[in-house]
Amino acid sequence: MTTPTRVLVLNSGSSSVKYQLLDMRDASRLAVGLVERIGESSSRVAHTPLEGGGAERRERTAPIADHAAALKAVAEELARDGLGLDSPELAAIGHRVVHGGLRFTEPTVVTEEVLAEIERLVPVAPLHNPANLTGIRTAQALRPDLPQVAVFDTAFHTTMPEAASRYAIDVETADAHRIRRYGFHGTSHAYVSRATAELLGRDPSEVNVIVLHLGNGASASAVSGGRCVETSMGLTPLEGLVMGTRSGDIDPAVIFHLQRVAGMSADEIDTLLNKRSGLVGLCGDNDMREIHRRIGEGDPAARLAFDIYVHRLKKYIGAYYAVLGRVDAVAFTAGVGENAAPVRAAAVAGLEELGLAVDAGLNAERSEGARLISPGYARVAVAVVPTDEEREIARQTFALAGGEVNA
Ligand code: AMP
Repeated sequence: MTTPTRVLVLNSGSSSVKYQLLDMRDASRLAVGLVERIGESSSRVAHTPLEGGGAERRERTAPIADHAAALKAVAEELARDGLGLDSPELAAIGHRVVHGGLRFTEPTVVTEEVLAEIERLVPVAPLHNPANLTGIRTAQALRPDLPQVAVFDTAFHTTMPEAASRYAIDVETADAHRIRRYGFHGTSHAYVSRATAELLGRDPSEVNVIVLHLGNGASASAVSGGRCVETSMGLTPLEGLVMGTRSGDIDPAVIFHLQRVAGMSADEIDTLLNKRSGLVGLCGDNDMREIHRRIGEGDPAARLAFDIYVHRLKKYIGAYYAVLGRVDAVAFTAGVGENAAPVRAAAVAGLEELGLAVDAGLNAERSEGARLISPGYARVAVAVVPTDEEREIARQTFALAGGEVNA
């Protein structure tokens, strides 16, 4: 029998499941897809087979009641391409799990005890961990014989010193409720900081990198010699940078002010700060492409939203520069970081004294791979480094399942 080399990666959200099937002989993707609007009457399944190049992207709309049904739909789509989950070539299933608390510092093979701990963390990740748990249980039911591996968004950040991770509030209250900075997007920060060192031709243990993960959710991290020493997201993904729909940092007193003065409930404020703030709250759009377009038309609200976004980003670059003392590279990644040249230029503008600069020509170029966008004379490298959380989850999953990754 041949050794199984395929890994399925599942990223289960509250109403969606993103998936990728990879062949770990070369870490190539065999298929990618997304099930959206789970629980609604108009759920959507979009599936793209990548092997062989012959098959086309397929999309269909049908009611999908829950995550179990979603995973069944994924299995059906894969089976249509001869990549069914019953295949003996499947080695393991890797799951993105958002909150691993302090306990999970590494990817972990799922056991009943691991599931119980992820469950115990639901109060600090009420939106994410329940969906992740459902995804794991559903996959277990489908292939009980396979290792299921949990890869935690928080794991990379567990190396932060207490000076960075502890909030300055009453210690007993904080400890009783496990309140501290955990940080998220860890898989991406780990991957990008390593890939940046590679781009510089140096060992990760030698370099200090500021990683700016700017997607719809956004976070910054300071990585020293391969270890995270500070990150912008906190107890939850709400803290830090201005995001697509989240406020990032605000004075916590805004919350009780809204409660007392505007009569808003905790849930309403939660929704305001997580869903109706950030770029969408400021100008009505959370897509940076649309914001660029509106700025081009002279729209002042879009301009201001952009300026606030970039101002916060620049503050974090400065702060993390100070935390690290010496910075070798600043790396931009995720949807905005990889694609929005004006954001990169504006975030770094005026930081020449810190050794930071962006070359306009290099910044405007596009490429699939990691690249430098700083001029040759700059002391600090500025890089665009595409993130690949799914491939990283697959790599870690396969390694834990006993496979050896070549790519
Ligand atoms: P992510 O969460 O990493 O998938 O990033 C999604 C976000 O990336 C979108 O909401 C857009 O704001 C941004 N984005 C994607 N493509 C572009 C682009 N070509 N130019 C500017 N922003 C982009």
